Amino acid sequence: MKIDIRKIEYSELEDFILANAIPKFKAQQIWDWIWKKSKTDFDEMHNLPKDLKDLLKANFFINVMTLDKIQKSTDGTMKSRLKLHDGHLIEAVLIPVTKDKRFTACVSSQVGCSLSCKFCATGTMDRVRNLDPAEIYDQVVMVNQQSIKSFGHPLTNIVFMGMGEPLLNYNNLLKSIEYIGAEGLGISPKRITVSTVGLSKMIRKLADDNVKFNLALSLHAANDAKRSEIMPINDQNDLESIMESLKYFYEITKNRLSYEYISFKDFNDSIEDANSLARLCRFFPVKVNIIEYNQISGVNFERSKAVSIDNFAKHLREKGVMVTVRKSRGMDIEAACGQLANKG
Ligand code: SF4
Repeated sequence: MKIDIRKIEYSELEDFILANAIPKFKAQQIWDWIWKKSKTDFDEMHNLPKDLKDLLKANFFINVMTLDKIQKSTDGTMKSRLKLHDGHLIEAVLIPVTKDKRFTACVSSQVGCSLSCKFCATGTMDRVRNLDPAEIYDQVVMVNQQSIKSFGHPLTNIVFMGMGEPLLNYNNLLKSIEYIGAEGLGISPKRITVSTVGLSKMIRKLADDNVKFNLALSLHAANDAKRSEIMPINDQNDLESIMESLKYFYEITKNRLSYEYISFKDFNDSIEDANSLARLCRFFPVKVNIIEYNQISGVNFERSKAVSIDNFAKHLREKGVMVTVRKSRGMDIEAACGQLANKG
C-alpha cells in the first residue's frame, strides 16, 4: 500500500533509499524537493533519475490541497478557501501592510474547532479533524506565493490564528513549524506566532520542549467570570493557571508573549476592565494587542466605540503597559479575526 511521503520522518526515507540499494545522498535530495522546494509531483524532482522517480511513485503519494475560492479585500487582504484532499475546507489569509513591508500569513491548524468561543465564527462549527503538518505547511507556501505575486515580497510573518486551536494539534503544529523553518522554507521561528486560548498544560509543554516561536494568548476578558462567559474553556483553565503557565513559559524560553484582546462594547471595554487587564501584565513582559470586533451573525456582541478603545488603551499606557490597537483587516470579505467559517 502506498504511503504519504510527507508523513514519514527523514530517517524512514533514508531507510527506504538504502533498502533499495540507492546512494544515501538521494534521500536528502528528495527531502529537499519536498520541504525546501515544496514540490508535490515526483516528476518535477529534476535531479532524480527516472527509475528512482518511478520507485517513489510506486511506493508513495503526495496529497495536495486546491484553491477553492479567493476573495480580495479593498485593503489588500486576501482570504483563500482551500479544499483538502478529503474534501474538507479550511481558510488561510494574507494580510499585507505594504508601508511597513510586513506580509503576514494567518493559517489554520484544524478543520473546525471544538472550543465554541462565543464571538468566533469557527466556534459555531464542530471540530472535524486536525490538519497534518503538510497541510499547515502548504498554506504557508500558497500564501507566500500570493504575497510574492501580488506585492513582490515574500512573507515576513506567520500567525497561527486561523481556524482551530493549535495546541490541540500539538505534535503536528511543532512538526509543521520545523518544515516552515530550518528543515524547509527557512522562516525564522522569531517570525512565527502561535495563538492559543490558554491551555495551561500545553503551554508548559511548549516550554519544556523549548520552542523558539512567539506565543499569543487570546485573552479577551481579564477576569474569570467574564472570560468563562465568552470562552467555555476558561472553566478548566482559569486565569491563575494560565498566568502561571505563561510565567513558566517565559522563564524557560524568553520568547515574546502577547495578549490578544478583542474589545466588545459594554462588556470588556471599561476602565475597570483596563485595570484588571493591567494586573495581568505584571508577571512577565507582555504586549497587549487590542482588536476591533467584527460582528458575526447570530452573536450579540457589538464593536466598542472608537472613543472607548482610545480611552482603554490610554489608561493601559498610563499604567506602563505596552499596547497596540489593531484595526481590523479584511472585514468586507470576513477574513478578520474570528470570522473564518468557510462561508460563501
Ligand atoms: S477563537 Fe479559536 S479556539 Fe475559540 S472557537 Fe474560534 S477558532 Fe476555536
